[in-house]
Amino acid sequence: MATESTTAGLGTFPAGTVEPAYVLTGAPTTDPAGVFSDISGADGTFWARARSFVQEEVLPVIAGYWERGDYPLHLVKRLGELDLLRDGVNLDGFAPMSKMAAGLVMMELSRGDGSIGTAVAVQGGLALRSIAYCGSDEQKNRWLPALARAQQHGAFALTEPTHGSDSVGLETSATATEGGFLLNGEKKWIGNGSIGGITVVWARGDDGQVHGYLVPQDSPGYLATTIEGKASLRAIWQAHIRLEGVFVPDSNRLPDANSFKDTSRVLVATRLGVAWSAVGHATACYETAVQYAAQRKQFGRPLAASAIVQERLARMQSELATMQLMVVQMTRLDEAGALTPAQASLAKFTCTRTARSVAANARDLLGGNGILITNRVARHMADIEAIHTYEGTESIQALIIGRSITGISAFN
Ligand code: FAD
Repeated sequence: MATESTTAGLGTFPAGTVEPAYVLTGAPTTDPAGVFSDISGADGTFWARARSFVQEEVLPVIAGYWERGDYPLHLVKRLGELDLLRDGVNLDGFAPMSKMAAGLVMMELSRGDGSIGTAVAVQGGLALRSIAYCGSDEQKNRWLPALARAQQHGAFALTEPTHGSDSVGLETSATATEGGFLLNGEKKWIGNGSIGGITVVWARGDDGQVHGYLVPQDSPGYLATTIEGKASLRAIWQAHIRLEGVFVPDSNRLPDANSFKDTSRVLVATRLGVAWSAVGHATACYETAVQYAAQRKQFGRPLAASAIVQERLARMQSELATMQLMVVQMTRLDEAGALTPAQASLAKFTCTRTARSVAANARDLLGGNGILITNRVARHMADIEAIHTYEGTESIQALIIGRSITGISAFN
């Protein structure tokens, strides 16, 4: 069938081509083990809202933003308007949101695009959660509703150029001065760190402990540069930040952030969200592969008619079901207050590495079309690389799991 379409499936291609316009953005429900069959009520409402947003507002535009390395801030604003931005942190004046709902939303947004999922992870999961866990009542009233509604942008600055996996050794300093603190140091990879708004900066106080500080991004001495040249998560911006004697008033220190343990509480709470994000990426890759295999013909029949292709689809489905079962079970534990840090690590460890496998298989199944950004898979494949690394790399998760197995810390 010849077509002159320039929009469906493959994006722009020559008029008159004999190649069909593959439709790859339909949304078949992918739940082979029935793990989501009992999702209903408020959880189902959040999930459905995220799904509509992805289908109607994200998928039609995101490949262009990704390719240009542009951050679609209007979509972040929509996340706030749709109450999809707070990652399960419950706030007065907002509908109750369960951990399951937060996971489903993260999965769904990442199924659309990793940068959109990451925007929620950064603003809701990390910045908003830090203030909710460690802030004063005044700080909570001032910032939480505004961050949840995307009336303000929020960032979380922990990582430094020379302290990634060992962020516990961070060197940014907060020196007491009259009426507040002077912050000096550098932060790297800070999502939302260069777009205006507020950054939660983790720095070492005079007592040698790590504390949290709320730093408006227009503070004198806060110098942020957007990191360019990324091959992953291209539709969100991360910043390299220099803090040169930034004055932070006493009222902007988070009163309940007094050691790295408090930072870790925030990080552990978001780790499972990264696993959900991996499920979303893998779902997108699997769904695209299924649709492509049905539409792409070689040797006079659809790829899907080949036994080898069916085996590959079965393998991908098996991997996807494993991931789904893992995140749903861990979230049930989390809702019961029983999730351990090692279990959260097991979920992230399992899901991001499995998503990599699903993406690689899907990419190959799409042949040359698999490397075109408009065909979804390559974009997800690249984005999985970032979530595989952030919030603790695969090896760091393995060390946390290994410590819980053996009782021996192998970090040093
Ligand atoms: P390194 O720590 O240098 O690790 C390099 C390699 O060495 C990895 O494979 C790692 O597993 C391995 N390794 C390290 N230590 C050990 C060990 N003891 N044993 C065995 N192997 C080891 N940070 C923030 O604070 N805020 C953000 O908003 C944020 N967003 C991010 C967004 C993106 C896209 C990325 C890529 C990163 C982001 N980060 C953010 C930082 C992220 O958390 C770090 O990149 C991550 O913790 C890894 O640190 P690193 O990149 O310095 O790698």
